[in-house]
Amino acid sequence: QNYCSLSGIISDACCGYKTVEKINDELFPQLHGLVKANFFKYYKLNLFKECPFWTEYGQCVNKACAVETIDETDVPEMWRSNVLGALRTSPAGPLFQPYKKCEFKEQDFCIVEDEADVESVFVNLLENPERFTGYAGASAGRVWKAIYEENCFNSAPTTNSLGGKSQPASPIKKTNLAGIFNNIANQPDVVDSDTCFEKRVYYRLISGLHSSISIHICNEYLNQTTGQWGPNLDCFISRIGSHPERLENVYFTYVVLLRAISKVSDYLKGYEFCTGDKVQDSEVKDMVNQLVNTAKSIPGTFDEKQMFASSQSSLLKEEFKARFRNVSKIMDCVGCDKCRLWGKLQISGIGTALKILFSYDDEFFNPKVNPNLLTRTEIVALFNTFHRFSESLKAVECFRHMYQQRVRET
Ligand code: FAD
Repeated sequence: QNYCSLSGIISDACCGYKTVEKINDELFPQLHGLVKANFFKYYKLNLFKECPFWTEYGQCVNKACAVETIDETDVPEMWRSNVLGALRTSPAGPLFQPYKKCEFKEQDFCIVEDEADVESVFVNLLENPERFTGYAGASAGRVWKAIYEENCFNSAPTTNSLGGKSQPASPIKKTNLAGIFNNIANQPDVVDSDTCFEKRVYYRLISGLHSSISIHICNEYLNQTTGQWGPNLDCFISRIGSHPERLENVYFTYVVLLRAISKVSDYLKGYEFCTGDKVQDSEVKDMVNQLVNTAKSIPGTFDEKQMFASSQSSLLKEEFKARFRNVSKIMDCVGCDKCRLWGKLQISGIGTALKILFSYDDEFFNPKVNPNLLTRTEIVALFNTFHRFSESLKAVECFRHMYQQRVRET
């Protein structure tokens, strides 16, 4: 299998590469339009949290690493901290703060950004594209290493999801960089084929995200001699093209995100996309409806019911959740603001997909009965993450053509 001729079935999913590329041909333009809407382009997050795990994490000083933030006065009034903060103030007065400092709900698979957090900033995602920044070396490698190490589950035997003594995922201890950093390159790139389905899925989602980030880096690469941005085929071949399993993991993660959007489609159809501008709101609603209708019309992409299916797999599910939350905390250790922004957003997007797939049964997604199952931040993260993966699949097609052309010319 190589990226020049992707054929066959994506393992652990229920469909083939060709099917997914065809689905993406339809979805990509829809997603590309959607993320330009005000509702989806403004994201609020805390970029300034300290790394909770280690103390030295070199800060990237390249211009390309910087994030342009925007003033709160530029976003719809209803999203501003003073308005959200006021909504949260209890009639019992400021000392009574029932909602304060809860990092996540039981159902969450990641730390969800709090839009009322006064330390958080708004960014316009369109003005901060995910692309080559030059962030690399020990700091980046250490973050990836820590993320992959979260894959070492305590619970469940290797071949199925039954039982096993389990402890919650323990947080990584705060340490100094000196002495402990080993190059991740020595780590095996694939999980053992005996590994249980759930652990495999966990690994494949992380690896899929890593691949997708690498594809964006190679697709919008800065030629430092000419100063031009553009696709770099050699970058793609060395990071992704020559590792079929990394490529497969991008398609796999795409399929999982697609299944989550399909599952939540009725909820999204009833969701109020409020920006304060009625015309825009109804345009966004139409775009979302069209997209979720397309997603819903595609049967059998990923079967989440195969996961955590055993009566004894609840411990495994809790550990899966705890490890994923740890990954969202590790993102605060990324030493490049632009990379941290997209790292946090995409972990939140995948976490939202996991929450949709594993925390609620289908009947919960009734917006009239449960209007607040997902926050605006989660919805924005989910669709922007899906758009990132959709764009990655399109970039793979372009790299395929570039490669074929190179072969013809030599
Ligand atoms: P890395 O990508 O750092 O990979 C380290 C090792 O992991 C490899 O040697 C390999 O053994 C293994 N590996 C690589 N890919 C996979 C995979 N898909 N599956 C399994 N194993 C794999 N840089 C930018 O220029 N722009 C960004 O937007 C950006 N965002 C980032 C976001 C995060 C969260 C992090 C941690 C880093 C980000 N970086 C970004 C840095 C970038 O990901 C690389 O770390 C950097 O370009 C150096 O690449 P590398 O070739 O040394 O290998």
